[in-house]
Amino acid sequence: MNNSKVSDKDVSKVQDDPQRQDGSPRHYDIVVVGAGLIGAAFALRMARIFADNASSNSKDKPCKIALLEARAVPSPVTPSATHFDPQVVALTEASRQWLDALDVWQACRDRACPYSRMSVRDGEGTGCIEFDAAEVQRANLGHIVENSLLRASLLDAIGEQGNIDLFCPVTVESLLRDGETTIVNLSTDEQLSTGLVVAADGANSPIRAQMGFELRTWGYEHSAITATLKAQKAHGFTARQWFTPSGPLAFLPLRASAQAAPTEAHYVSIVWSQTPERAERLMALDDAEFCRQLTIVSEGVLGTIEEVSQRLQFPLTQRHGVDYVQPGIALIGDAAHTIHPLAGQGVNLGFSDARVLAEELQRALQAGSAFGGLQALKRYQRRRKPDNLAMMATMEGFKRLFEREELPVRLLRNMGMSGLNRLSPLKNSLIRQAMGLT
Ligand SMILES: Cc1cc2nc3c(=O)[nH]c(=O)nc-3n(C[C@H](O)[C@H](O)[C@H](O)COP(=O)(O)OP(=O)(O)OC[C@H]3O[C@@H](n4cnc5c(N)ncnc54)[C@H](O)[C@@H]3O)c2cc1C
Repeated sequence: MNNSKVSDKDVSKVQDDPQRQDGSPRHYDIVVVGAGLIGAAFALRMARIFADNASSNSKDKPCKIALLEARAVPSPVTPSATHFDPQVVALTEASRQWLDALDVWQACRDRACPYSRMSVRDGEGTGCIEFDAAEVQRANLGHIVENSLLRASLLDAIGEQGNIDLFCPVTVESLLRDGETTIVNLSTDEQLSTGLVVAADGANSPIRAQMGFELRTWGYEHSAITATLKAQKAHGFTARQWFTPSGPLAFLPLRASAQAAPTEAHYVSIVWSQTPERAERLMALDDAEFCRQLTIVSEGVLGTIEEVSQRLQFPLTQRHGVDYVQPGIALIGDAAHTIHPLAGQGVNLGFSDARVLAEELQRALQAGSAFGGLQALKRYQRRRKPDNLAMMATMEGFKRLFEREELPVRLLRNMGMSGLNRLSPLKNSLIRQAMGLT
């Protein structure tokens, strides 16, 4: 057993189990593969459901979860006024509320940056749409959170759950389905048995491949560059996006703490999607030239870009599982679908998967049905697939529309954006959709 330390804390200790003396596999009601944002959130939600169920039905044996993670989890970025994790996510209000109900939001709220306005511009024209939370009587449209902070908050909460065992670092060597039980063979030569494996093992999901799930894949022919910038002007708690024919650029506002003065909020995280060749060229630029290019593409809205952190590059591919479930197995998060980051929706869709799968398993628990049964799993798939596909189609449409350089398309695009900007009911409905509230 390699039960490693996580984030400088012993998150979970696997108790010595007398049943193990005979060499039989250790049994868990659910085995979750992958402790990224989605797997960790799902495991935490299910652990709470199991704990509530055990306290209301004291005669039932308490259910347990194994959470498997391949990579040792790095310590979260030490909070500092000038240093941020270059990987961030834009959380919708619906996701924030769910994390709040899981009691993990509190640990993020001081550093999570709320944004009350969003500006979307056609970088090749004059089209512009401005969204303001006040138009839908809300304080803000969403929050930007550093991935490492959110993950550490989830893992800290998991560490306090007595019914989750974290195995880290460990990988799954093979899965063998035998009737209603799956045997999970680990890289540590241990075996686990379970009725349900939930694969939250990311975009290149080894479990999805091992179990022969069919996948639809569309190459975006884009790579995304992420980094943190310091701008001359304060960001004004506005998320900004420029669409250019070579790809979208997003400026996502950051803050070091809720106490910092708004006029001091000069840091933004970028997601800059470009063709792989252009991305390579941008990655090779020195910092001064990279900042100069960003000042140009962002039309000087935040004045001069003064500093850039280490840059990271990610190849982008759209993937969608033809099925998310098989008997005894379910895919969630990026293992089930990946989407272009221009919408900032990947994590939000994944949290919805986790929430809906947990709801369906809670129903199965209350009905006394097996977790791994196809009935509950198919209900999860039916509820999530249409939403995920609709979001993917919308983002593909956006990307294609803004790649077109012909003059008539550009004119229509600019007129459409300006017209939409004046149409309050349609705009308000778009804002609510982007917040995940419809
Ligand atoms: C540049 C960029 C910007 C983005 N911006 C946003 C945004 O603003 N908003 C948003 O909502 N989304 C955004 N996304 C998408 C978002 O980051 C992903 O959708 C999300 O992180 C997926 O989480 P996950 O837990 O499903 O997968 P992952 O984060 O990939 O986690 C999978 C975990 O499984 C582990 N693992 C893999 N294989 C095994 C194995 N065999 N055994 C055990 N463990 C295993 C991995 O180590 C990893 O920890 C962005 C994505 C990119 C690339």
